[in-house]
Amino acid sequence: VIVVRTLAELRATLAAARLGRRSVGLVPTMGALHTGHRRLIEQAVAQNDVVVLSVFVNPTQFDDPADLAAYPRTQEADLALAEAAGVSVYFAPAPDEVYPPGFRTTVALRGPIVDGFEGAQRGAGHFNGVTTVVTKLLSMVRPDRAYFGEKDAQQLRVVRALVADLNLGVDIVPVATVREPDGLALSSRNGRLTVADRERALGLSRCLFTARAAFESGVRDSEGLVRVGARVLAEHGVEPEYLAVVDGSSFEPVDRIDGEAVLVVAATVGGTRLIDNVPLR
Ligand code: AMP
Repeated sequence: VIVVRTLAELRATLAAARLGRRSVGLVPTMGALHTGHRRLIEQAVAQNDVVVLSVFVNPTQFDDPADLAAYPRTQEADLALAEAAGVSVYFAPAPDEVYPPGFRTTVALRGPIVDGFEGAQRGAGHFNGVTTVVTKLLSMVRPDRAYFGEKDAQQLRVVRALVADLNLGVDIVPVATVREPDGLALSSRNGRLTVADRERALGLSRCLFTARAAFESGVRDSEGLVRVGARVLAEHGVEPEYLAVVDGSSFEPVDRIDGEAVLVVAATVGGTRLIDNVPLR
């Protein structure tokens, strides 16, 4: 794996790949890599000649400075995982490299896909930070394909809209959520949970699985599914920020499921904010 920290080094490193018409896959992350990230990398390695892993804790998408400061940073382990998983280029720029002094552009989507749920909870700045940094990373790397986890379902939807609206010409590849054997969705934030909080955090995936089982046995009204899920959350002593059935495309709440839908949940457990979802198809 080649470690690059500047845009100039990145360009120089990718120049040969471009000349050789080799395909380039990009896996954007904020580091603190786990098996979920690894699955994205493996998918990228399977489909591309060259895989760029970006590791950048993007300050502009954090609504809470304390959350940004507490975000885990595990460089040595990240590099080892990247190497083992077959990453070609490890791109870890400093904040100044991405946002030099005088930086003045924001890429902002409008409408329901950014207004609700994560957009509502974390504020409009969150998705503006995401869309701006993703646009920049895609411009810097110019990959053929970019890999995003279904774990962040709304983000995936937003990135697809961004790519369509701006004709960015990159293939967005979704990767299914990777979970612990007991169901907990892998997250860089899980390491901050105490043993007791980790047990409570299981309420999120269990709530989703229970509601999904109800969906599979024929329940189609969102209210019924949310009621079933809310009970499981309550049993775990977890108060949801939101728990809702949304349309998979518009990310707007739906009353009845008759197309692709997603059951989404967010909650703060012991000071750590967690999100999870399951597709209902
Ligand atoms: P992050 O470093 O948390 O910004 O995540 C980087 C990418 O990894 C995003 O596209 C996430 O959706 C994805 N990701 C994070 N956790 C998981 C997981 N448990 N399963 C699959 N993808 C994930």
